[in-house]
Amino acid sequence: MIIFKKAEDLKTYLDAERTEDRILGFVPTMGALHQGHTSLVRQSAAENALTLVSIFVNPTQFNDPLDFARYPKTLDRDLALLEEAGADIVFVPDEEEIYPPDEEEVPVFDPGPLGQILEGKARPGHFRGVSQVMRRFLLLLRPERLYMGQKDFQQCMIVDQLIRHLELRTRLLIIPTVREEDGLAMSSRNRLLTEPQRILSASLYQCLISIESKKGKTPFAVVKKECEDLLRDKGLEPDYVEIAEAHNLRLLDDYSRTEPMVALVAARLGGVRLIDNLLI
Ligand code: AMP
Repeated sequence: MIIFKKAEDLKTYLDAERTEDRILGFVPTMGALHQGHTSLVRQSAAENALTLVSIFVNPTQFNDPLDFARYPKTLDRDLALLEEAGADIVFVPDEEEIYPPDEEEVPVFDPGPLGQILEGKARPGHFRGVSQVMRRFLLLLRPERLYMGQKDFQQCMIVDQLIRHLELRTRLLIIPTVREEDGLAMSSRNRLLTEPQRILSASLYQCLISIESKKGKTPFAVVKKECEDLLRDKGLEPDYVEIAEAHNLRLLDDYSRTEPMVALVAARLGGVRLIDNLLI
């Protein structure tokens, strides 16, 4: 496994190493890695001659400075996990590598209404930052395949739009969410929870299961209220509990009989914001 800090060195290396039958799989991360991340890396390693993982805590996608300041950093452990998962190349750039001070501001990609709902509404500017950093990475690396987690469902949709907007040949592969035994979606931010909070946070997944099991039996408005009450009972502050059409994230007032749907939940616990979703 080879580690790069400079974009230019990485580009020189890739230009030499890549050929038509040695294609590149890319896994962007913000570090503090867990098994959710390594499942993306393992899949890429199985499908591509070269697997590149980036570790970059992108400042422009944080709308809350405290969230950015306390985002966990575990670089040595991350590198050990990546080596074991089969990564070939790790890119750990400084902020100036991604946002060079002497360069014009990175052009903004507008994801339209998709960027205004759910996470876009709760975290103004978040998807603008995600699009900025992904644009930089995608144009630098031009990976054949890009691996992202279903846990960030809306982010996957926006990045897919960005790929089309940039007219790249990159194919996005969405990898199922890896969960703890009690259903909690693995997340770097889970490290910030105390042990009792960690146990209570499984209620997000309980909401998703309940939304799924009551499909076609109970009006969604009733289920939504039950879920919000459950979250509050456990000490979480719900941000949203929604269902949407899975292919375009159009929010639904009630269960659809025909469309594939996705249930999405976000809530805060002790200053930590948690999100999760389930295809139903
Ligand atoms: P992050 O480091 O949080 O930016 O995540 C990097 C990538 O890992 C994103 O594509 C996430 O969707 C994905 N990811 C994060 N948590 C999980 C999980 N529990 N299961 C699968 N993928 C995940």
